[in-house]
Amino acid sequence: MALKVFNTLTRKIEKFVPLKGKKVKMFVCGPTIYDYSHVGHAKTYVQFDIIAKYLRYKGFDVFYLQNITDIDDKIIKRANENNETSKKLAARFEEEYYEDMKSLGVDSIDKYARATDYIPQIIKQIKTLLEKGYAYETKDGVYFEIDKFSEYGKLSHQPLDQIQAGARVTINEEKKNPADFSLWKKQKPGEPFWDSPWGKGRPGWHIEDTAITETEFGPNYDLHGGGIDLIFPHHESEIAQMEAISGNKPFVKYWLHTAFLNIRKEKMAKSLGNFLTIRDMLSKWDKKTFRFFFASTHYRTAIDFSDENIEQAKKGLDRINEFIRKVLVANGKDNKKVKELIEKTKETFEKHMDNDFEMPQAVAAIYDFIRDVNKLEIGKKDGEKIIKFMRELDVVLGFMTFEEEIPDEILALAEQRVQARNEKDWVKSDKLRAKIKEKGFYVDDTTDGFIVKKL
Ligand code: AMP
Repeated sequence: MALKVFNTLTRKIEKFVPLKGKKVKMFVCGPTIYDYSHVGHAKTYVQFDIIAKYLRYKGFDVFYLQNITDIDDKIIKRANENNETSKKLAARFEEEYYEDMKSLGVDSIDKYARATDYIPQIIKQIKTLLEKGYAYETKDGVYFEIDKFSEYGKLSHQPLDQIQAGARVTINEEKKNPADFSLWKKQKPGEPFWDSPWGKGRPGWHIEDTAITETEFGPNYDLHGGGIDLIFPHHESEIAQMEAISGNKPFVKYWLHTAFLNIRKEKMAKSLGNFLTIRDMLSKWDKKTFRFFFASTHYRTAIDFSDENIEQAKKGLDRINEFIRKVLVANGKDNKKVKELIEKTKETFEKHMDNDFEMPQAVAAIYDFIRDVNKLEIGKKDGEKIIKFMRELDVVLGFMTFEEEIPDEILALAEQRVQARNEKDWVKSDKLRAKIKEKGFYVDDTTDGFIVKKL
């Protein structure tokens, strides 16, 4: 079946047809690295990780690019507060960001591009905008003149005059329109800088991304993602810049946006001070519980974050993992219905994922499968088929635990325990069980041998 996605640009569900055959150039806005990432970021990045992986599952040849905003007002402010350089602060949090993504199993990104590695390309884009009459220089920088780009507002679906009326009146009287946005910021005392035709300074936020994507992808590409807060002004301004430079429309064919993760009905944000870092959460819950939590909600639906909701997700995921453990040791009679159920489930899973990545329904198909298989007697061969199938789905979802993922050290302890039991050394066996428990695992005996579960 053909994949369909909801495109913010057209506000329609559209058939997903990349610009060139099966190749998909995908870009998602990365973080501004002045602090640890929070659980709201995790939602956006895990959901795009699942989207990228599903595109690959469908046979698309995806190149997934993400930018790293390593120069920005917030970085400068935080660095000053800490009495360190912006460069040092950004380098530190860039590493922390990669660490967080790794712990969440977000590993679909092909390239991370740091804004400060693209200064010549940024300068070139600003020069072109000035030459083409879309930008002007003031005492404090270079600005994009939104009135020159009549389609400004097409992504956020706001008429230009409404944007003009709604723009904050800034103290900068040199700006032609209060909503004109900055392309280059001239250096203020003590700020980091790069040389440019407009003197020392640094880039504005929106131009970083178009300079990166034009370098890596060219002037047009397939898919651009981010959280809904980025639609305006960030993504709107990216369109204005790049379409003004190249004259090729649309700059990006499909725009996808994730809804927020809220906490007590408010957006989780660093600036609101109501955030919980990914690390705080990972010290309490397993990364896979998180992935499951995010996969159980549609990417365009907001999530309410609470301990109870995560606890609920954990229970849901436990059911899937228990099923896997059971199937791994299946030794009844093989049943030809299993093949049929696998085919039916695969079809339902894909049908939902193909419909704008309907993850909750796709996950529900797995539960239906579990329920149906649980009604049958199954054999070893069936078990192998089921595990193969679940693994295929998990390449996309990344939340299931297969038995062999139990660390070798734990399996070795469990085997020593079996030996102790065979030798009727109950004291040793109990000690080994306690040791396994101490390390976060639970061992039990079945007629087919021992099973180990994560606690
Ligand atoms: P930032 O570093 O704040 O620019 O955010 C990086 C990415 O995370 C952007 O795509 C944001 O839209 C997204 N994001 C930030 N806060 C949240 C949130 N509470 N829920 C979902 N996504 C978020």
